[in-house]
Amino acid sequence: MSLTLDLTRATPAPSAPVNLTGLTREGLRQALIDAGVCPPEKAKMRASQVWRWIHHYGVTDFAMMSDVAKETRAKLAEAFTLARPEIVERQVSKDGTRKWLIRTAPGIEIETVYIPDVGRAGALCVSSQVGCTLNCTFCHTGTQKLVRNLTAAEIVAQVQVARDDLEEWPSPKEDRRLSNIVFMGMGEPLYNLDHVADAIDIISDNEGIALSRRRITVSTSGVVPQLPALGDRTAAMLAISLHATNDALRDVLVPLNRKYPLDQLMAGIRAYPGLSNARRVTFEYVMLKGVNDSPEEARALVKLIQGIPAKVNLIPFNPWPGTDYQCSDWATIERFAAILNKAGYASPIRTPRGRDILAACGQLKSESEKVRASALRKAERDAA
Ligand code: SAH
Ligand code: SF4
Repeated sequence: MSLTLDLTRATPAPSAPVNLTGLTREGLRQALIDAGVCPPEKAKMRASQVWRWIHHYGVTDFAMMSDVAKETRAKLAEAFTLARPEIVERQVSKDGTRKWLIRTAPGIEIETVYIPDVGRAGALCVSSQVGCTLNCTFCHTGTQKLVRNLTAAEIVAQVQVARDDLEEWPSPKEDRRLSNIVFMGMGEPLYNLDHVADAIDIISDNEGIALSRRRITVSTSGVVPQLPALGDRTAAMLAISLHATNDALRDVLVPLNRKYPLDQLMAGIRAYPGLSNARRVTFEYVMLKGVNDSPEEARALVKLIQGIPAKVNLIPFNPWPGTDYQCSDWATIERFAAILNKAGYASPIRTPRGRDILAACGQLKSESEKVRASALRKAERDAA
């Protein structure tokens, strides 16, 4: 990867106690040894015990770990923390969508969105970075600079905060409200693959939150060289933000395309580990009026993805202040979907959710930042 990220601030201050929630099983075992909580030969068993309390029961206090000896609990509390991050804001939409603004460190604010589905099920849309280095022209997050990659603890914390709010501890095996996770919040997950992969290991562990890897989807704008590693390390479902069927247009909409053009991207997808009819790739396609929504483009899309086990997710464009793009008309979107359906591709049109609380795709963070900035200005005016 030739893109250099400034990750100098990627790790929390060394003096801060380590939050155990962000450690993998192996990391937890090692941390217990390093802190002298237990001897190496007991560490695996002790780690399993602690793991269950953290990830199955969701406890935030070592005192709750009733089958762990009192002096061990005291040692744990001295060396580590299980604290949840601060919730700066919580909003609930008319349609049941919930959004949390979570502060994990000064200046590190993350937005996470829960989107209820039919029945009890629902998807949690998590962020992998604060801001983004890529500048997709239709995306509001793309107008923000990258602040930094999120740590595995900060990714897992988004799931825990949602679980707390949905009152879903201990982790149920079925009939869950939080049944799916999509990495479709802020940031490009494949530029933070190490932490994303650790977080997926933690979230999918059978003795913890136990969400099947088939219910975890990672969305990428097309970081082709990282696709094999994503498949091998996470076995997560793949979503590709395609948005255009030719390089000239994709170069504009998703500038990363200049680096990894469509022929490379499509070859990378065809080679994605584990791709099959039971594990299809999702192509995301944002519907932009007069830009990429013609019937010719729908036919070109069918041709481009021919032979790939896939479904296409048509996303009505969510406008934001200052954008020149508009959302395609509903009839145009339906006509586009009909062409894909006829060619045998499931192509659901994603209903915009949580628009009243600015929780829709591509609207995250910058809006609440704006609202708070304007509230601050107002407070300053009032004070003057
Ligand atoms: N960076 C990753 C994941 C986050 S974006 C990626 O690009 O795939 C999640 C999805 O929201 C992507 O498909 C993205 O293209 C889409 N999106 C971004 N801005 C949008 C907007 N304003 N309206 C609708 N979809 C948008
Ligand atoms: Fe970044 Fe994804 Fe937005 Fe593009 S669409 S700017 S990759 S968050």
